[in-house]
Amino acid sequence: MQEMLEVFLQDRDVVPVLKTDEICSACPNDQGGICETEEKVLRYDRAVLGAVGLSEGDRVSFRSFTAKVQEKIIAEGLREKICGDCQWNEICSRKQSRWESLTGFDYF
Ligand code: SF4
Repeated sequence: MQEMLEVFLQDRDVVPVLKTDEICSACPNDQGGICETEEKVLRYDRAVLGAVGLSEGDRVSFRSFTAKVQEKIIAEGLREKICGDCQWNEICSRKQSRWESLTGFDYF
């Protein structure tokens, strides 16, 4: 995750996918390219893409994507609706978003 964060911070383009990805490659739930919690993750991914107006395979800069998530999901109070049943929800609900300052960024 730290490695991917360093890549993201270079504002490289990202391409959202509805299957296991680069981040999953180090996750114990990634069983040969299939996530053990696939149903839940697919539900989250679809909800996020729908909320920010993107589709699987769209290419967008990490900064633009993050700004859009911040504005359309976090600032609108939709995070808990989208992924409130995640095992890490308690942590996310207490922690301030590191991307909060990106709200209002001119994306796309
Ligand atoms: S839980 Fe599933 S979707 Fe999440 S990082 Fe692990 S393999 Fe990927």
